[in-house]
Amino acid sequence: MNREANSSIRCTVSQCAHHCESENYCSLDTITVGTHEKNPTDEQCTDCQSFAVK
Ligand code: SF4
Repeated sequence: MNREANSSIRCTVSQCAHHCESENYCSLDTITVGTHEKNPTDEQCTDCQSFAVK
């Protein structure tokens, strides 16, 4: 698949369908980031909600 890297969104989640496999970038124009915590305290509390399984 030929995805175009969005240089504004770096991402290392190569398991995602939107990841540019040869480069650590997302191919989407925009993403949504959210949280699964009531009171997020560090980056591990946040999630990319645009993730899609390959
Ligand atoms: S949708 Fe989210 S997880 Fe998937 S490549 Fe883009 S930034 Fe990474």
